[in-house]
Amino acid sequence: MSTDDDNSTSETGSPGSTASANTLSTGVEDNGEPVLELENISVEFKEEPLIEQAMPQSIVDRFDLGEDPVQAVSDVSIELGEEDVLVLLGESGSGKTTLGRTAIGIQEPTEGTVKYRGYDVQDVEDGRHSGEIYYEDVRRALQIVHQDSNAALNPYRTIRATLSEPLKLWFPDLDVNDRNERILSMLRTTGVTPAEDYMDRYPHELSGGEQQRVAIIRAMLVEPDVILADEVVSALDVSLRIDIMDLLVDLQEMFSTSYIFISHNLTNARYFAEKTDGKIAVVYLGEIVEIGTPEEVIENPKHPYTQILRWASLPLDPVEARETITEPSPVMTEEAPDPSDPPSGCRFHPSCPKAREACTRENPELVSEEGSPDHLSACFRENSTHEYWQSESIHGEEHEIPER
Ligand code: SF4
Repeated sequence: MSTDDDNSTSETGSPGSTASANTLSTGVEDNGEPVLELENISVEFKEEPLIEQAMPQSIVDRFDLGEDPVQAVSDVSIELGEEDVLVLLGESGSGKTTLGRTAIGIQEPTEGTVKYRGYDVQDVEDGRHSGEIYYEDVRRALQIVHQDSNAALNPYRTIRATLSEPLKLWFPDLDVNDRNERILSMLRTTGVTPAEDYMDRYPHELSGGEQQRVAIIRAMLVEPDVILADEVVSALDVSLRIDIMDLLVDLQEMFSTSYIFISHNLTNARYFAEKTDGKIAVVYLGEIVEIGTPEEVIENPKHPYTQILRWASLPLDPVEARETITEPSPVMTEEAPDPSDPPSGCRFHPSCPKAREACTRENPELVSEEGSPDHLSACFRENSTHEYWQSESIHGEEHEIPER
């Protein structure tokens, strides 16, 4: 059993002998580069990765991996700046978690590079920037909060021990009183009160919402540049979801943190992106198919997949929701695509009600809409001169996607 004095390594990483994080003001300063830059990232799995084993309905659970590698992420390029928020929205198995984990350096890409403040994370790990930046700086700067906070917190450690650990690791100059003060202050800030009462409780003595708050505090205590919030509100009651998302918004203002917020729920994605002035990237079968502000992506979706996601999201009014459940689905096939053998051309074409012959041959690139340079969609329908418009529908006729 662990004790309060244990110093075992957690997901916050381990401080190397040369780690720079001795005080709360240390770290790699803003050097004008994006905080995170992903260039042409692809991730393939040849065998079941440990992380996916615990994720029901993930890509690797839904398909027999066999000999063929599963491409979880395909040629994705994104940037995240200071205090930026990027919401990754997509169904289970779309590759959004793999993309998020690659962005914070805990999943190695098969192709492409991940840069933290201009430094190639792989080069940093291999010590090629020794003296300028250390891998420990990267590990402190890029944190994660999981969906299942109960599993993420050690059941044998008190809240005091759990939250002292990252402070001991990254800020060894703090004495026990400083650490306790910081922890108490964060517990109060996040609404886990009376804070003194919670210090010596164990995770099972906390509610789900309190556990998630403690998991968020653990990530935030090391003052990271980016937090990957992976479905952090999915397991909570609807009433608590707003509270936790509002808490993340408040903490962003206090700590100037950037977020990659992962959600399969369009309502949560929209709420968080609107509150943080962030962007939503819609992920389908390992590719980003649409990106823009919540007004652009949710109110005025361009890509048929986003339009279907919006159609599939139930209205909040229960009577209206009951009526819409009986509507026929606009998706052309219920058969899930095989990520080890993705469809040719546009990966969405077997399901797309707007698909034409041209879509089976060529994969569309993300292009912006005229007048909205930051709203990009990967669909030939955005190009009025594309051969798409001269080719035949693959479903006999084009089908409408009802609006919500
Ligand atoms: S490119 Fe074709 S198949 Fe792909 S989303 Fe657009 S219309 Fe549908």
